[in-house]
Amino acid sequence: TGILYVVATPIGNLDDITKRATHVLAQVAVIAAEDTRHSSRLLQFLGINTPLVSVHDHNEANQVQRLIQQLLAGEHIALISDAGTPLISDPGYRLVAAAHHAHIQVVPVVGACAAIAALSAAGLPSDRFSFEGFLAAKASQRQTQLKALANESRTLIFYEAPHRILECVQDMAAIFGADRRVVLARELTKTFETIKQSTLAELCVFVASDTNQQRGEIVLVVEGAPEDSTLMAQKELDALLLKLLKYL
Ligand code: SAM
Repeated sequence: TGILYVVATPIGNLDDITKRATHVLAQVAVIAAEDTRHSSRLLQFLGINTPLVSVHDHNEANQVQRLIQQLLAGEHIALISDAGTPLISDPGYRLVAAAHHAHIQVVPVVGACAAIAALSAAGLPSDRFSFEGFLAAKASQRQTQLKALANESRTLIFYEAPHRILECVQDMAAIFGADRRVVLARELTKTFETIKQSTLAELCVFVASDTNQQRGEIVLVVEGAPEDSTLMAQKELDALLLKLLKYL
């Protein structure tokens, strides 16, 4: 049986590809990629001509069976996404799950991940954190999601689209509190890399007053709620439960 390699690729700076990733991508029979046109540029840069097949959110279900058959026939396959680590807000989950189901060995070939890069440079507590991926595009849904996270004491990591960054940070200031600390990590590993720690209120002003901050790729790392507020919520919950118990 072949091996399924889950290979991280750079998130901007092409020098971040590892020797091991390059070696694996050159050796496998096929590379399953999110966008074959995008990934062919990386392969060209690396001087690799392994065939690419597309596996994205819309065809993953169909492609999975074909790739599993190839793996069972003994061929090694690499899974990559457009940038960073596959499956982290990227396709690949169904393929990896199917590989496990078929008792195929899955090997991660580690490398860049925007969430971890941002956290490592954020200067916010990193012992425990919650990766939230992308918030909903619709304002009302996003606000509901943020309210559900308001008492979370772990550091929160979000991916956000540049055209929504201002309204997102404004919602966070309103829901998490203007004084909560936040790190804007923009264009990581690229020419215009910006890593800026401030309060949510300060970040609203910074982003609103400079449209360059509303461009490119963005990770937001937000300080968790003070432990106390989680305890308060717990106390409120206990009081409510006591009241409700009377009606049972
Ligand atoms: N799989 C990728 C990873 O490992 O980070 C993430 C893919 S997700 C579709 C793309 C989002 O990741 C972007 O919208 C942005 O929020 C974040 N991202 C990717 N590259 C980034 C970079 N160079 N700087 C900041 N954020 C980045």
